[in-house]
Amino acid sequence: YVVLGIETSCDDTAVAVVSSEGRILAEAVVKQDRIHAHYGGVVPGLARKAHEQVIDELIERVLCEAFACSADGVWIQSAHRLDAVAVTMGPGLEICLRVGFHAARRVLARLTSGATSPRPTFISTHHLESHCLVPRLFGLYRPAFPFLVLLVSGGHCMLLLARELGAYDVLGSTLDDSVGEAFDKIARLLGLNVGGGGGPALEQLAREGSPFAFDFPIPLKKRPDCNFSFAGLKTAVRMAIEHEVKQYGASIEVTNLLQVNRQAAADIAASFQRVSLEHLFERTRRALHWCRTHEPNVRSLIVSGGVAANLELRRRFGELAYDLGWRLQDEDNNHFKNATSNPDSGSDALADSIIFPPLRYCTDNGVMVAWAGIERLQRLDDAAGEPQPDSLEVVARWPIGRRLATDAAEGN
Ligand code: ATP
Ligand code: FE
Repeated sequence: YVVLGIETSCDDTAVAVVSSEGRILAEAVVKQDRIHAHYGGVVPGLARKAHEQVIDELIERVLCEAFACSADGVWIQSAHRLDAVAVTMGPGLEICLRVGFHAARRVLARLTSGATSPRPTFISTHHLESHCLVPRLFGLYRPAFPFLVLLVSGGHCMLLLARELGAYDVLGSTLDDSVGEAFDKIARLLGLNVGGGGGPALEQLAREGSPFAFDFPIPLKKRPDCNFSFAGLKTAVRMAIEHEVKQYGASIEVTNLLQVNRQAAADIAASFQRVSLEHLFERTRRALHWCRTHEPNVRSLIVSGGVAANLELRRRFGELAYDLGWRLQDEDNNHFKNATSNPDSGSDALADSIIFPPLRYCTDNGVMVAWAGIERLQRLDDAAGEPQPDSLEVVARWPIGRRLATDAAEGN
């Protein structure tokens, strides 16, 4: 199969063409970080406008590249070669999702006008499922269902049990902010330039600081479940920033700490990063223990979403892999680092491997949408049975699955 993927659920316009052999024929992403950097977050109206300005051109460019043809022949070529058009239908910002959906409909209309080949299938994809599945496209080892997913992105922070395509259980999720949101907000509070994304800016500053300079409390330490919380940590960090700034005079703005004391800002960044990653880590361990009792067939952990691009997080989970004797698939090396040399691990191994997508496929991209479309096509007995786009609408709020209680994990 060859599938076109379209993604516009938030602030990235992304398009890709991928084949079922796992080849990326072409891809493009247009980010909007610079547009929203002056505001407190993504402004939906501006995001929609920015998507609208680039989407059609982006699709045409990617199709031309994928099929090595000029703009003149691109629709005829595409009609021959494309088996499906996959588009993110939710969850996300409604007015943004609609831009991608309508673009996908235009593509389908162009492909079928006067076409002799069969109509490509329309596939509606779930944004979070795309994040979960994308590691199955890369690397030597394709994690088999069921697997555990730590999904850490701009809008979500959750632990998912992926049972099958389209069948997910939520083992835990955040009670307030997502981890990506927390990184973004702290980055702004620290006065960092967030034009290239708050998370990456904070990660970079943290390299200059000491992770143990500030002793922020690890969230939900006493709660025996797999949920997350970042509100309390965020408040503790804000108070630390305010405290530091105050020493330089009452008139100085909170966001000026970086200017007046770069080292203190870096120490706060490093300490916040350490504690938030420790929280993710602790909750994931809990979920793995829960799986050992309740879902012993879970043999792998996928860590996906924008925050999975954090190198400190990858290092931390690399240690976990080593401790437990699991394999680590960190795709930027595109091979397994075999961690089973640890003699203490033995039969206590809870799963086989921890898998990260390549860095650039952690944040939103078109490849993950196209790949989710391919996985769906491969399971369809009859593509004609897919609902037609005319009968569909985007779904801004779209839970990925039902909740499972994991309190029994207490004591781990
Ligand atoms: P969702 O997928 O939940 O709808 P989204 O699509 O906006 O949200 P992603 O594109 O998956 O989110 O990820 C963006 C988030 O990842 C941002 O909050 C960003 O700060 C964070 N992020 C990106 N790189 C890093 C990094 N290196 N360290 C920490 N956080 C990062
Ligand atoms: Fe996303």
